[in-house]
Amino acid sequence: GQGKGKGKGKVTRQDAAAVWHCWNQMEVYLQQMFTVIDDAEGVEMTDQDGKVYLDANSSLWNVNIGHRNQKVIHAITEQFQRLDHASLFLSTNSPAVHLAKKLKEMTGDRYGHVFYTNSGSEATDTAIKIARQYFYNRGETERYKVISLHRGYHGSTLGAISACGIPYDKRAFGPLMPGFFQAVVPDPFDAPEGMTADEWAEVCLEELRLLIEQEGPETVSAFIAEPVQGSEGVCVIPDSYWRGVRELCDRTGILWISDEIATGFGRTGRMFAAEHSGIWPDLMLLAKGITSGYLPLGAVLVPKIVFDEFLGSVKLEREFVHGFTTSGHPVACAAALANIEVIEEEGLVANSAAAGSYLLEGMLALKERFPSIVDVQGKGLLLGIRLAKWTGKSPMTAEWPPAMLAMNFLAKRGLITHAAGTHAVVLAPSLTFTAEHCDRVLQAFAQVLTTLE
Ligand code: PLP
Repeated sequence: GQGKGKGKGKVTRQDAAAVWHCWNQMEVYLQQMFTVIDDAEGVEMTDQDGKVYLDANSSLWNVNIGHRNQKVIHAITEQFQRLDHASLFLSTNSPAVHLAKKLKEMTGDRYGHVFYTNSGSEATDTAIKIARQYFYNRGETERYKVISLHRGYHGSTLGAISACGIPYDKRAFGPLMPGFFQAVVPDPFDAPEGMTADEWAEVCLEELRLLIEQEGPETVSAFIAEPVQGSEGVCVIPDSYWRGVRELCDRTGILWISDEIATGFGRTGRMFAAEHSGIWPDLMLLAKGITSGYLPLGAVLVPKIVFDEFLGSVKLEREFVHGFTTSGHPVACAAALANIEVIEEEGLVANSAAAGSYLLEGMLALKERFPSIVDVQGKGLLLGIRLAKWTGKSPMTAEWPPAMLAMNFLAKRGLITHAAGTHAVVLAPSLTFTAEHCDRVLQAFAQVLTTLE
């Protein structure tokens, strides 16, 4: 048969091997998971054989407004007709400026300046370089260390994986950048028996304080963390931890970089996750939902106090020595502006909170029914379901980590999810998800867990 509308026939497994897929064992991918998505609309995707999937992953936690939104597509087309690209090395462009002003307004005028990247990983690397050069420009050349959290994920470039707290992601690439350290993450799931989430957060905070003390605060440039972790399973970090981090960074001068790449733009039920605690970082990383994935874009939000350290005459050589050919791409910025308008006009942040609570409640009810669910955490439409390993009925259950197995079985039932690490399935659908979509997710989980248990 013919692939829909392509006129070139279907993509075969052999063809697909020409593309080296991200984060996949290609042999397993081609044998067991090979899927060609041909089109998508709203929260559904269709493969080349006409099978329809409910996309509970919003592609990769980024299509916040849903697929094929005409307003964004129109904005992209219009911008292409005017200016396809002009590098920020030479000139500025109006979509980039308007987006920067919009982001400033959305974050309560805290961040007056935006550095644009093409991805989240590049935003992480950029922020680390900003932090280091900020101190370099101030003459504090010893301040190079970066502290992050266990199980944290900040991207897959060498700088970003240096900051990652996931050993598996780093093991083949060493030696990584020196000066990177990880502190214990205050995951409520790890709280010792009898300890509340806040008490456990205080213990973790004390460990962070000690680590900084041992390293010497005058050698630490930045602390980087996600407000809600996602890539090794969802971990909702208590607000009390962020209060402690803010106080610690204020006292030591360390720059706090919050990685809101996954949590930004309504994902957790607020426009930015920082709004839950009301405690704001020094630098903020954005990507994913900034354009809802319609075009690649990332951003680092920078306050005046940091930006000003890079000012001065040519002779002083204080300029930020960094940037990408397509930084501030006008079409990507136009897409972001239209995307943000859609999020605001359609009330998607409030829907994320409401649908997220509904889905969380449903998952917690499934946890009571299925012993293989050992933990459920979520905030807005970012949910993690931690699974125990099934005792192998088949070679596949014995060999595959539970997250991958569940993801695969769910996909066969037409539900797209994400395997995070070995034990967690993450759900991060479009913020347009309805109660009916949530019910479909819950049903698919119940069916798959019944099969596997
Ligand atoms: N940081 C977080 C919290 C993420 O979830 C991701 C995305 O997977 C990244 C960074 C990396 O972003 P990207 O894949 O756009 O490089």
